[in-house]
Amino acid sequence: RLSRHAGTVLSILCVPFGEEQRMVLSRDITQFERIDTMRRDFVANVSHELKTPLTVVGGFIETLDDMFEDLSAEEARSYLKMASDQAERMKRLVEDLLELASLESRALASLEERVEIAPLLEMIEGEAQAFSAGRHAIRFESDGPVALLGSRKELHSAFLNLVTNAIRYTPEGGRIAVRWGVAVGGGARFAVEDSGIGIALEHIPRLTERFYRVDRGRSRESGGTGLGLAIVKHALSRHQASLQIESKPGQGSTFAAVFPADRVWRPVALR
Ligand code: ADP
Repeated sequence: RLSRHAGTVLSILCVPFGEEQRMVLSRDITQFERIDTMRRDFVANVSHELKTPLTVVGGFIETLDDMFEDLSAEEARSYLKMASDQAERMKRLVEDLLELASLESRALASLEERVEIAPLLEMIEGEAQAFSAGRHAIRFESDGPVALLGSRKELHSAFLNLVTNAIRYTPEGGRIAVRWGVAVGGGARFAVEDSGIGIALEHIPRLTERFYRVDRGRSRESGGTGLGLAIVKHALSRHQASLQIESKPGQGSTFAAVFPADRVWRPVALR
């Protein structure tokens, strides 16, 4: 039997023994229940996220099939384009899911690589410019440590997710500043500041939950999967880094990854 009281779930087993006696075994399974609920929510979310584009793709293919003779080449091409956009969305979602799963499985690349920051920032700057396609003024500044100890792949993914989010949630003509610098206590800080739509305070604690979005429509439209910040949080916590978020609705947001001094690469002789 399960007993629920004030948020606690107990599993209670009543075993008769002897003539008139019973032994009652009780176990606190609150945590198991919580994990099970999270797992079920996650599966429901993934299914929903995949089902929507699949239904759209199916619909377009059916329309093409039914009306093939009546459609102009241009109309047919526009249906195909819409179907391929949806397929692209499903691909991104599956890629993000696989990335999250691999971060969680921990059977991963070493976290002791020397990751050079300058080439990493250069790469991210190129990707940011391509993603924005000239719609934003993007500036990169760097006066932080030359290298970190960690996984290049995971740091690239975390930093790029923060930068693409800044672009995604900043209207055309807005400003984005990416800064690599030192943090108090000898650590390092990667900060992305945007002049975008901002986030109301009550949403901030939940942003790193999988599939949590402030505005579902806007996230979808701009190609978001709802998993970006969950990936960022996992990748950063594997590097003992924290994610700091400051935002003002209508003015913009700053997302910063702060690394402890232990993660800053220093020549062996000095360590
Ligand atoms: P998504 O794929 O929807 O962008 P994320 O996990 O990356 O998913 O982000 C979760 C939500 O946080 C977004 O849907 C958006 O509402 C909000 N968000 C993230 N970054 C920003 C930002 N720079 N400015 C405003 N809102 C943001």
